[in-house]
Amino acid sequence: MSREVTDGGGIAGLALAIALNRYTPPESPLQVDIYEGDPELRTVGAGITVWPRTWAVMRHLGVRDDLSRVTVQTSSQTPGSQADDLCPAFVARKADQLEEGYTFARVDAPVGSTTMHRRDMMDVFLSHIPSSYTVHTSKRLLRYVQAAPDSTAATAHTRIILHFSDGTTAEADVLVGADGIHSTVRMCMYEDAHDRECVPSILGDVLARENCARCAAASPRWTSVHSYRCLIPTEKLYALNPEHATASIGAVLCHIITYQISGRKFLNFVAICREPGGEGALYPGKWVSDVSRDEVVSKFIGWEPEVEQMLECVDNPSRWAIHALDKLPFAVSSAGNVVLLGDAMHAMPPNFGAGGGQAIEDAYVLGRLLASPHVSLAHIPAVLRIYERVRLPFANDVSRRSREVGLMYEFNAPGYYDGSPTTEEHERAQLDTLGEAIGEMWQWQWTESVDSLWALAEKELETLLSDS
Ligand SMILES: Cc1cc2nc3c(=O)[nH]c(=O)nc-3n(C[C@H](O)[C@H](O)[C@H](O)COP(=O)(O)OP(=O)(O)OC[C@H]3O[C@@H](n4cnc5c(N)ncnc54)[C@H](O)[C@@H]3O)c2cc1C
Repeated sequence: MSREVTDGGGIAGLALAIALNRYTPPESPLQVDIYEGDPELRTVGAGITVWPRTWAVMRHLGVRDDLSRVTVQTSSQTPGSQADDLCPAFVARKADQLEEGYTFARVDAPVGSTTMHRRDMMDVFLSHIPSSYTVHTSKRLLRYVQAAPDSTAATAHTRIILHFSDGTTAEADVLVGADGIHSTVRMCMYEDAHDRECVPSILGDVLARENCARCAAASPRWTSVHSYRCLIPTEKLYALNPEHATASIGAVLCHIITYQISGRKFLNFVAICREPGGEGALYPGKWVSDVSRDEVVSKFIGWEPEVEQMLECVDNPSRWAIHALDKLPFAVSSAGNVVLLGDAMHAMPPNFGAGGGQAIEDAYVLGRLLASPHVSLAHIPAVLRIYERVRLPFANDVSRRSREVGLMYEFNAPGYYDGSPTTEEHERAQLDTLGEAIGEMWQWQWTESVDSLWALAEKELETLLSDS
């Protein structure tokens, strides 16, 4: 029995625990410990959209039916049912003018779109964690170190020692860093790799990791976007306008994203504002702050009446400096027994609503690999690298395309609508072309499946096991 540890009890960490439990045969159990820094497992932010690609994974993990009970959908079909019927998923509309906006994209997806409150998702995930796994709360990881090799052991495998902020330690055979965008595991992994493998000095000065062409990628960078988030009570908004654009479907009111959650009681409101020139910078202030309603309103003066109605209902907004990782080059430690998962590996701009879905795909692939009864401790470094080869380039590419589609929502993508047309007819023609391109950018969320990634991983695993 090997001992797996996930550091971080967010979406990624819990999904991994579910995958391990689902795919580990009862005769070769794993010992799994989940260490969460906060006093309880909770999640920040309110709404989350789950797209068909992710629903298929939810079905594999056995959580789909329970999740279906807490969703809001744009169609009456069951999410993840593999039905081919396309239903409206969301609309995109030009809204930055005083008169009513122009809807230039209507994107259809199998089963439409499915949204829920993050807390509901976490509750369902928690209910699927077996009692044999241990969840430790208030355990904030400060660092990990490799234990000295055991000279009496049959393999070269070394254990990992985890040091927590309360002064305690724990040991593990495999450490999975599912600790989000601020990942301590990622920073330890990269500091260590940098010290060992990168040019030790330039002209006598030690090359800091932050200035290293490879290892600087471990520090998240500001995307130059502030996102304002809050929940709008639907009762209040639809009293102002029962025909409001958001009443029946998710909407991207360029660039405000809305969808209903919590049994349609609330509208999840995310307004994106780009601060030109800030992309790639280290952000000077707090990443998340409570702000006044006036600050949000000031960003959207002169927008269409339906935006104004939403702004009237904004309450307790917060401002998030959206950060992302720029193409992490590796996600497995030099010793081959520590690995990254979810935002710790590929925190991305939120424009596809895909970061959580990608974390769940990571968990599915890694969980199935580690659960294989033929995988021994000696195989772990090679197995983690299979996961890295399959998942890291894919997630990095989703992140790149998410940035691109975000620029398209903002009319800021070269070759598409940029506000220059002078006639209404020309403007609409350009917007329609943009709408089609946005629809195409989204297709991967339902025309491709994680099964093809798992097939690659499974094939590599079979080769590894047959060679050893
Ligand atoms: C505005 C916005 C909208 C989004 N919308 C969507 C969407 O609609 N759909 C979607 O799929 N994704 C969406 N995302 C992305 C999604 O929120 C993230 O990708 C997802 O939450 C990542 O999950 P995670 O478990 O990797 O990280 P996190 O959710 O950050 O969880 C990490 C966990 O680790 C714990 N932790 C951190 N450090 C330590 C430590 N040192 N020791 C112990 N524990 C620690 C934290 O407390 C936390 O519980 C959105 C993101 C943003 C910003």
